[in-house]
Amino acid sequence: MLEHRGAGIKKKEVMASKFNLQKTLPALVIIFILLLVPFFRAWKDARVCEFSGITMGTYYRVQLVGCRLSKMEMATLKYDIDGILAQVNKEMSDYDPQSEISLFNKSLTSVPFNVSSGFVKVVSFALMVAEKSRGAFDPTVGPLVDLWGFGSGVGSEGVPSVAEIQKRKDQIGYTHLSVRNGEIQKDIPGLRLALGAIAKGYGVDCVADLLRERGMENFLVDIGGELVASGHNSRGLPWHISVEVPTPGAGVGDGSYEIIDLSGCAIATSGDYRNYRMEQTKTYSHIIDPRTGWPISNMVASVSVIAGDCMTADALATALMVMGAEEGMGLLSQFPETEAMFIIHDGEGYVDRRSPGFHKYLSVR
Ligand code: AMP
Ligand code: MG
Repeated sequence: MLEHRGAGIKKKEVMASKFNLQKTLPALVIIFILLLVPFFRAWKDARVCEFSGITMGTYYRVQLVGCRLSKMEMATLKYDIDGILAQVNKEMSDYDPQSEISLFNKSLTSVPFNVSSGFVKVVSFALMVAEKSRGAFDPTVGPLVDLWGFGSGVGSEGVPSVAEIQKRKDQIGYTHLSVRNGEIQKDIPGLRLALGAIAKGYGVDCVADLLRERGMENFLVDIGGELVASGHNSRGLPWHISVEVPTPGAGVGDGSYEIIDLSGCAIATSGDYRNYRMEQTKTYSHIIDPRTGWPISNMVASVSVIAGDCMTADALATALMVMGAEEGMGLLSQFPETEAMFIIHDGEGYVDRRSPGFHKYLSVR
């Protein structure tokens, strides 16, 4: 009897706990899901989509943080990015014989030449930098770049003669080039354009604009080391960018000279350490001083420029390589919101010169 009563109580207890569980289980599940939501959100916000390919003789890479694109949408976006870069090449690559720049270079007349709006924008900006740098940067330097063996044309065997250099110098000069009403014009027939010092930066800006138009905020666009960093990285922090040690022949990622934190701006680096030529024991840089006709020999190993857009950073980095730190700081001060770091050969090592606001970008991590 007792046992029976006991069994009755036990049964009641089991039923009661079953009843409670039935009641509380859905609530527990909801609480559990609610607890998971922030983790799921964080996971989605940190999801990175990557695109890469080849353009302008180098690589491109795009990283999108907080990417919610389906496979199909990603393929479409990659197609659009490739299309934009193909368009920049069609306008500004002198390796494509049918590009706008090649057709302009081949034309031997002073008749105004109609080109795309992107091309006009880049040439106008290049002319502005040429003027402000008093010819240290010159988008018509192509014949000299070729002569020294760094262009699309045939270079000289060995070191060119003084007469050859002078002949090429007579074929160049940004003052012989003008832009008017969407057209460009040369006033000496042999004048040619070379936009290798600025086109990559412009390409980076074009891709960044496309991403912003599509509502993306957190991304990194990189064409051969010229970058636009927008918003934050996958850890919710500014993008962590390495400025390389400018060791001759070094590969990408061989060592950091400095680490920069960037968000909402661009950085471009120009250097003598990856593209150079050796004649006997002497090295010749691919960056030419149009004022002398010779490759630069001012001990500047690399210049990194931070600016609001990558076209500005790219053009200024090349201009500052030619000008060196003393003269270059004066040019930099004419461009608002720009900073630069010069890494200069010093015996076996390096010293650096930084513009006053450069330290704001140094990584504190
Ligand atoms: P970057 O790597 O951006 O400094 O561009 C270097 C390229 O710009 C060279 O390979 C040349 O095609 C071209 N270049 C060389 N010297 C100059 C110069 N003084 N002004 C403008 N473009 C130059
Ligand atoms: Mg450049």
